[in-house]
Amino acid sequence: MLLSHQREEIFDTFMKTRNHPTVDFLYDVIRKKYPKIGLATVYRTMRIICDADLARKVDFGDGVRRFEHKFKRHKHHHLICTKCGRIIEVKSPEIERLPKKLASQHDFSATKNTMEIFGICSSCQSNT
Ligand SMILES: [Zn+2]
Ligand SMILES: [Zn+2]
Repeated sequence: MLLSHQREEIFDTFMKTRNHPTVDFLYDVIRKKYPKIGLATVYRTMRIICDADLARKVDFGDGVRRFEHKFKRHKHHHLICTKCGRIIEVKSPEIERLPKKLASQHDFSATKNTMEIFGICSSCQSNT
């Protein structure tokens, strides 16, 4: 991976982010240091990072593209509150087993799976 200074900065900024940043979020952070950077550069760099398997795209159903690290992270799934947008990361051995089981029943070779569960979080439930 050949990185310019700008790309390195995008990469570092992304790797320091713990949650699920959007391209716009990364763009805002990086622009403080590199005011001339273009949004397209951020998009392109994130694609390179995903292609290198260091990050993956996550879709929380609101049409906004987000990214999260794949590097040094355990596999997890998401509970997404459709009211406030809160995202809770969850892990479960059952969720890991089920895709393998379903795939093998159909002689299917699964390469990846992800589970996003949509609903209303506890604080939004108590606010109504
Ligand atoms: Zn909520
Ligand atoms: Zn996550």
